[in-house]
Amino acid sequence: MVRCRQVRKSFGRLEVLRGIDLVIERGQVVCVVGPSGSGKSTLLRCLNHLEEPQAGRIYVDDELIGYEERGGRLRPLPDARLRRQRESIGMVFQRFHLFPHRTALENVMEGLVAVKGVRAGEARRRAGELLDRVGLADRAHHYPAQLSGGQQQRVAIARSLAMSPKLMLFDEPTSALDPELVGEVLEVMKDLAASGMTMIVVTHEMGFAREVGDHLVFMDDGLILEEGPPREVLAAPAHERTRAFLSKVL
Ligand code: ATP
Ligand code: MG
Repeated sequence: MVRCRQVRKSFGRLEVLRGIDLVIERGQVVCVVGPSGSGKSTLLRCLNHLEEPQAGRIYVDDELIGYEERGGRLRPLPDARLRRQRESIGMVFQRFHLFPHRTALENVMEGLVAVKGVRAGEARRRAGELLDRVGLADRAHHYPAQLSGGQQQRVAIARSLAMSPKLMLFDEPTSALDPELVGEVLEVMKDLAASGMTMIVVTHEMGFAREVGDHLVFMDDGLILEEGPPREVLAAPAHERTRAFLSKVL
C-alpha cells in the first residue's frame, strides 16, 4: 500500500530525512514516534507531497507520489494529477484548521461540493452521515467556536473522510487537546482503524500505539532507528535512544 524507498529531504544544509525505508500494508495502522525534530512531520508531508523529497521514491498503491517516470527519468506530475493524488490521502493535523464561518456540516460538505462536484443535497446527506460516524450528529449546525477542541478535531476527521481517502495521515491529532478530550478523538480513530482504513499516526499516545497500532516506528535524527510490533518495541526497545525516549513518554 505504501512504500518509501530511501527518502531524503533537506532544508538548506539541514538533513531532516536521511534515507527512510518504510513498507505499510493495506489496512495497517502504523504509529510513528520519536523526539522533536526527528523528521516525523516532514515524513508525513512528503507522503502527500506537501514537501518534495530530494531523493528516493514514495509509492501509494503502486502509484509514484509527485512524479511520473518517463524514459527512466522522473518529472513532476502535472498539477491536476498531483491534486487527485493528494485528495486520495487524508491528513489531520494537530490544529484543526476548520473554516470558522461555516458550521460543522458545512465544513464537512465543503470538499464534496468544491472538489468532488457533488450536488449540495447529496453532499449534505453524506456530511450528515460522516458527522454521525464521529459522534457529532447533534452538533451539525454548530460553528467551530461553539465546539470543544475534541469535537472540532472530530469534524476535521469527518471532513477528511468525506474525500474517501485510501490512506489517512495523522500528525499528533490529540496533542493540542485538553487531556479529558483526547479519549473521544482516539476512540474515533480506533473505529476508523477497525473499519480497515490504512493509517499513519504520529503520536505520543503509547496506549493507542499498543492497543490499535499494528506497527511502531521509532524515528531519530532523520532515520528509522527501530520498528516492529508495538508491544515488542515498547516492552524491549533494542536501542538506547529508543529506551531514553520511551522512558520520557511512558
Ligand atoms: P515535532 O515532534 O516537534 O513535531 P518532528 O519530528 O515532526 O518534530 P519535523 O517537523 O519533521 O520534526 O522537523 C524536522 C526538522 O526539520 C526540524 O529541525 C525542523 O526545524 C526542520 N524543518 C521542518 N520544516 C522546515 C522548513 N519548512 N524549513 C526549514 N526547516 C524545517
Ligand atoms: Mg511534528
